[in-house]
Amino acid sequence: MSTHDVIIVGAGPIGLFLACELGMRGTSVLVLERETSPESAFKSAPLGLRGLNTISLESLYRRDMMHLVTKNERPKAFNIKEGFKFGGHFAGMVLNAELLDLKKHKYRLPGPALTPNGTMLDVVEKVLTERAESVGVKILRGKGVSAISQDDSSVTVEAGGETFTGKWLVGCDGGKSTIRKIAGFDFVGTKPECTGYAVVADFDKPGVLKMGFHPSEGGMYIVGFAGNFFLLDFDGGAFDRTQKVTPEHLNDVIARVTGTDVKVTNFKHASSFTDRSMQITQYRRGRVLLAGDAAHIHSPLGAQGLNLGLGDAMNLGWKLAATVKAGEDADLALLDTYEKERLPIGDWVLEWTRAQVATLKPDLYGKAVRNIVRDLIDTRDGNNLFMDRVWGLWMRYDLGDEHPLVGSSVPDFELDDGSRLGPRLKDGRGLLLDFGANEALKGLAGEYSDKVDYLSTSAKEQLGLSAMLVRPDGVVAWAAEENTDLDAAKAAFQRWFGLGSK
Ligand SMILES: Cc1cc2nc3c(=O)[nH]c(=O)nc-3n(C[C@H](O)[C@H](O)[C@H](O)COP(=O)(O)OP(=O)(O)OC[C@H]3O[C@@H](n4cnc5c(N)ncnc54)[C@H](O)[C@@H]3O)c2cc1C
Repeated sequence: MSTHDVIIVGAGPIGLFLACELGMRGTSVLVLERETSPESAFKSAPLGLRGLNTISLESLYRRDMMHLVTKNERPKAFNIKEGFKFGGHFAGMVLNAELLDLKKHKYRLPGPALTPNGTMLDVVEKVLTERAESVGVKILRGKGVSAISQDDSSVTVEAGGETFTGKWLVGCDGGKSTIRKIAGFDFVGTKPECTGYAVVADFDKPGVLKMGFHPSEGGMYIVGFAGNFFLLDFDGGAFDRTQKVTPEHLNDVIARVTGTDVKVTNFKHASSFTDRSMQITQYRRGRVLLAGDAAHIHSPLGAQGLNLGLGDAMNLGWKLAATVKAGEDADLALLDTYEKERLPIGDWVLEWTRAQVATLKPDLYGKAVRNIVRDLIDTRDGNNLFMDRVWGLWMRYDLGDEHPLVGSSVPDFELDDGSRLGPRLKDGRGLLLDFGANEALKGLAGEYSDKVDYLSTSAKEQLGLSAMLVRPDGVVAWAAEENTDLDAAKAAFQRWFGLGSK
């Protein structure tokens, strides 16, 4: 029987990113994946296309992987007119990134990770697999987990006829999570209003269905720039998703949704999804945690699920690694900030996707909301408000500190040597960034030198700040302007880096 610090169930993007975050800190990690091969038509182009928001790009940038997953994916084909750059969409109504007004975001600086970009799922998984294996993570394929049990010190897992034990287990096994069910997590939310279809096919009347997003009388259809096609059919979730999507069924849905008689000719692949929106009520039950789609499901409208899950992994990784390192008597207060911080973000995403479903409803109520939203998006302020949400710029954890930067992503400062701050977080350690050469802060950081780096520097734009403590996930834990409150800094160090025994 093999024993590890952490067993991760599922080698999807979230399980793999979490594995990287743990492995880089010396945690011994075993990933158990049901599928024997990572290859799938639903992960490669065109169906594997996924939008990464600013928060996800920042995470990958800080771990030196952004450039590996975003090569050439920016969807230029949607830049349909002069002065317009595709900046995402709300319920199919496109946002113009050219109108981004950074003055509305005091602590956002332009940098390589600011503007959302596209990627392919297979590329993300390949890059993360290579990184995970390079930091010692063991990935076993063909190991579908069928049973787990836990006691006060370990979790035992049955998979593919073998037994594995770990001190902790994280279920990253997707929306139909086995771990969620067998570990007894409550999963609550709303029932589906519609069924969506992701399709690769040709059509008998090319050009009738135009490229782009089309909210319609029957729901919505999207003709992608990469040869993919999406339909949203308000059938109350009636389509039985255990059956295969056939060309005949698609033709019926196309007629309903697009109001045309376009027919599928060269059918290659199709999958279906719904807007069922649910989230677990606790992120940890004993020694079992969940992340990614295992913890929350919702419609893919607005490109949020992968982003939400990567955020879970970035938040959980360093906390779980520190808990493992602190040993059997570790205080679990740090680990439990995972739920405290991520559950409200999950709630928000579920609400955001529900708002889009409500806006797309093919009735007079939906039409009324659509008209108002379109008017809003057509204004500069409205466009900025929606981009703020879609890009994730609004995200801030409530860490109990009123300073508006605390709980937010650290700005990507351009430092006095011309380098940027983001890549300084590559090793996943904390950072005390000191613009004031403050000896007391330097001494304090020295007390935590096993977990926190100290950097005394100046930056091109300092945004009125004199110092800040940055957590390993790039979130600001404490910030000072003119006067440094040393007691507050000490409390922040202790809270985030002083993990002790119960
Ligand atoms: C059409 C569509 C478009 C989307 N577009 C976007 C987008 O643009 N942006 C965005 O942010 N999100 C998007 N999403 C959502 C995004 O794809 C998912 O949220 C994300 O892939 C979830 O990753 P995950 O690792 O949590 O789960 P998954 O990718 O589902 O991975 C789970 C893994 O666990 C394995 N597994 C399952 N059960 C077991 C078991 N019992 N034992 C062992 N292994 C198991 C599976 O084989 C799988 O490899 C989209 C989704 C769809 C359907």
